[in-house]
Amino acid sequence: MALDRFGRPIHYLRLSLTDHCNLRCVYCMPEDMTFRPQDALMQDDEILRLVRLFSGIGFDKIRLTGGEPTIRARVTELVREIAATPGIRSVTMTTNGILLGKLAADLAAAGLKRVNISLDTLDPQKFRRLTRWGRLEEVMEGIRAAEEAGLTPIKINAVVVRGYNETDVVDLAALTREYPWQVRFIEMMPFGGATEFQLQQTIRAEEIRARIEARLGPLQPVDGGRLDGEARLYRLPGARGEIGLIASVSQPFCASCTRARLTADGVLRMCLLREKEIDLLTPLRRGATDETLRRLILEAIWQKPWGHGLAAGEIPVNRVMSEIGG
Ligand code: SAM
Ligand code: SF4
Repeated sequence: MALDRFGRPIHYLRLSLTDHCNLRCVYCMPEDMTFRPQDALMQDDEILRLVRLFSGIGFDKIRLTGGEPTIRARVTELVREIAATPGIRSVTMTTNGILLGKLAADLAAAGLKRVNISLDTLDPQKFRRLTRWGRLEEVMEGIRAAEEAGLTPIKINAVVVRGYNETDVVDLAALTREYPWQVRFIEMMPFGGATEFQLQQTIRAEEIRARIEARLGPLQPVDGGRLDGEARLYRLPGARGEIGLIASVSQPFCASCTRARLTADGVLRMCLLREKEIDLLTPLRRGATDETLRRLILEAIWQKPWGHGLAAGEIPVNRVMSEIGG
């Protein structure tokens, strides 16, 4: 397995299938977002070649993301081929859930293990305001379909934005009493052109926790409060599911980061919140050998930054979240 220069094993690839999306969430992209042309995005054979190279250097976990991964043409076939790549032990997906009602069963049959579904509120009007045009009912249908297809345990991701959904954390957290889901609250992170909004309206994990506890009672740490990936896990008394707090801004988890991100246009980004990128697609299209690409990847891993610089006011401006792959 490849190590970075700080000794962290890097074996988890977040692979963006497209920068396009069927929603326009206010914290993710501007309403008039322009997307890359299809030929600027990795084609299926290019994705599969890079996946084989990553697995060859020890990557065993792949999360498909975007943009919205379910709108990629042939997504089911891609999942099947990625899941069948030797060395890949788990293929999961982060999705807004809108198309899961149609796709969940096929994706599960193709080898997808689990899904994280983004859902910031249970109020249809607020959902529309946050996503600019989404229909909550479609996401709820997507969650049901994912559960039926065995894409479990279901994880729900909620970004909390002041003035939009800070009071909704209570109803979302209460879902865990009834369902065996992990509901995770995420601090909004600043990217690109939306920084004013993102800096003013971020809500810290401590405030989210206080809001939940004030209405639903004390959150009990799960496993002594250890990190599960990026989330610190808690449970409401007697609940079936868990609550996760993802404090990427106020309490970064960089020391335990094992990730690399491959954007839909084929550049490797070793830290979500750092601008540095290593282009793999251009050399690949110019005929680079596997060995050359492998060396580029290993060098990028070695140079992975220790962590982000938000505390020092360093905000990445070259891409918004949907162009990186959350
Ligand atoms: N479209 C899919 C979705 O919404 O789940 C996958 C891509 S989306 C960029 C991945 C995750 O990033 C989502 O859970 C989304 O809520 C989160 N996200 C987007 N912008 C964010 C921001 N500024 N800060 C924190 N999380 C953000
Ligand atoms: Fe699309 Fe996901 Fe970004 Fe929302 S968070 S605009 S669903 S990519």
